[in-house]
Amino acid sequence: MGFNIAIDGPAGAGKSTIAKKIAAKKGYIYVDTGAMYRAMALYLLRERVDPAQTGEIDKKCQDADITIAYENGEQVVYLNGENVNGYIRTEEVGNMASVSSPNLNVRKKLVELQQKLAADADVVMDGRDIGTCVLPDAQVKVYLTADSSVRAKRRYQELTQKGISCDLHTIEQDIIERDRQDMTRAVSPLKQAEDAVLLDSSHMTVDEVVDAVIALCEA
Ligand code: C5P
Repeated sequence: MGFNIAIDGPAGAGKSTIAKKIAAKKGYIYVDTGAMYRAMALYLLRERVDPAQTGEIDKKCQDADITIAYENGEQVVYLNGENVNGYIRTEEVGNMASVSSPNLNVRKKLVELQQKLAADADVVMDGRDIGTCVLPDAQVKVYLTADSSVRAKRRYQELTQKGISCDLHTIEQDIIERDRQDMTRAVSPLKQAEDAVLLDSSHMTVDEVVDAVIALCEA
């Protein structure tokens, strides 16, 4: 096993921003597990699967081949051979990911891929169940959170910077609903692992959070 850093937390807490910076500083591989659930959700949306039909998700998810590659230092997600990085960052896909991710078959498939990636490399992996389920033996575990209003503002800025028009109030409502789904599901719910360190980034800069995690690695 390489050196594994697990970062979990609710939507918009800054996990990917922090994880990317740590990966660059330490020369580790950044694994964005949310992107895998998003690629699966994109597939289900394209196949017009009704999220309420669990059996449909069970069946359809078997036809989605999701793989990861690293191109110019960026994680690229392939869905049945197609690079889907440009399609998975929308609120629609994020909401569908939250609805389809409790499915056991979806999780089994993606967790296997995640564990394989961490088995022989030094990784920073972010998600919802990394410290609790995917990498229970990770050397460093962080639970990164922030107030929902702060998280909504960050996501709003991220989307508007990309030229995607959106509404701050709707984003906050989406975030709250997504957290509720992720925290209350029966399978691998979002929660702080017993041995994870809690970091609330509401009043911290990105660099302060990065330094705090690096300090944990060196402790
Ligand atoms: O982090 P991101 O917003 O990209 O994740 C999208 C959704 O994927 C989450 O709301 C959650 O339902 C699901 N997810 C998960 N387990 C992970 C990562 C993401 O269930 N490890």
